[in-house]
Amino acid sequence: MTISRLARSIAPSPTLALNEEARQMRERGEPVINMGIGEPKNKTPITAVLNTSALLAAGDVKYTPPEGTPSLRKAIIRYTEENYQRSVAPENVIVSAGAKQSIYNILYSILNPQDEVIILAPHWVSYPEMVKMCYGVPVIVTPEDGSFIPRMTDIEQAVTSYTKAIIVNSPNNPSGAIFPPNLIAEIVEFCERKKIFLICDDIYHKLVFDNKRATPAYQCTDRNVEDSMVIVVNGVAKLYGMTGFRIGWVVTNRRLVEVMTNVQSQITSCTSAVLQAAAEGALTGMQSIVENLRLGFENNRNVVMQELSTFNGIRTIRPDGTFYVLPDFRAYSNNSVELAQFLLRKALVVTVPGKEFGMEGRIRLSYAGTVKDITTAIERIKWALDPKSPNEIYIGDRKMIRDWL
Ligand code: PMP
Repeated sequence: MTISRLARSIAPSPTLALNEEARQMRERGEPVINMGIGEPKNKTPITAVLNTSALLAAGDVKYTPPEGTPSLRKAIIRYTEENYQRSVAPENVIVSAGAKQSIYNILYSILNPQDEVIILAPHWVSYPEMVKMCYGVPVIVTPEDGSFIPRMTDIEQAVTSYTKAIIVNSPNNPSGAIFPPNLIAEIVEFCERKKIFLICDDIYHKLVFDNKRATPAYQCTDRNVEDSMVIVVNGVAKLYGMTGFRIGWVVTNRRLVEVMTNVQSQITSCTSAVLQAAAEGALTGMQSIVENLRLGFENNRNVVMQELSTFNGIRTIRPDGTFYVLPDFRAYSNNSVELAQFLLRKALVVTVPGKEFGMEGRIRLSYAGTVKDITTAIERIKWALDPKSPNEIYIGDRKMIRDWL
């Protein structure tokens, strides 16, 4: 059997793989706590359920236009007006099966082989793999000062004649950092001037804390949507806790939407009509659901920071948004893959190695779960790593003794 060289070179999604490992451990009765996956625990918004049920009850579930149903795109247009103060037309919007497919679809539609895409570390695990899947070259820019905010000069230096796009994800997975408004303005100005696409992955844009705000790129350009290099990606997964519904979308110029629509029409025909109805229900229903989730995550962020502050040697930059934190564990190990495996085996806590995000020596913890899970997980991690913590701990009803430090 021969498998293509490109397909063989693509790494599996480490977060999904770890999630599966945790699920199997839990099935075996192990009291695993999952701090790995980025998934809010809320119930599906009722308006999403009702819209879906109505469609199913009518029994009229057919193909939709490849770019999405007119009514969902209308809801997205309203969302864009309300959140980005931008008026866009239906021809500027395309719906896909999650923000993940939206981003892949963009990359597929803009990249020629060997074109480069600048990715800012720490970065979401999928960006480099998706660029490679489009025969492009990921170029990673890492802040040298140990912060999570890139320097404009480093971005500029990474640009070559092959650079096609820069991906910005603020608030950021995995760090929770929000890029300062002046940096967003500089990146937008640079991309507009150099004709480089600016892909804004805004999937966490409302999950922000301490009255901070993520500056939308659209606010930093006076060019209209048709002339701007800004491409905005969004979805219902994180803001509405609808990860399983797989609905994301892109707002950009008509020409690109047209090409992406052709591409999508040959791959999936369209996103499921049922799931589009659910997303429309969420977008047109009560928006307090987003604020409630945000408040819960802000509280969880405070708990995580409090718990980590009692941990010897761990340095943590306070997240401004999302539901992730990326503490520096180099006081215990420089190898985050080994460390994450150790924490899973000894403490039964799933984490994601920082290496996957382009930042070795760090571990990503997702605090989308309950306060109890967060406090118990950090207590277990502390027990496994910190000789100053008590030598014994109960995991489930098992008394565990630390015999390795
Ligand atoms: N972008 C980022 C930064 C993410 O963290 C995720 C989900 N983990 C996505 C995109 C994909 O979102 P969706 O579930 O809508 O595909």
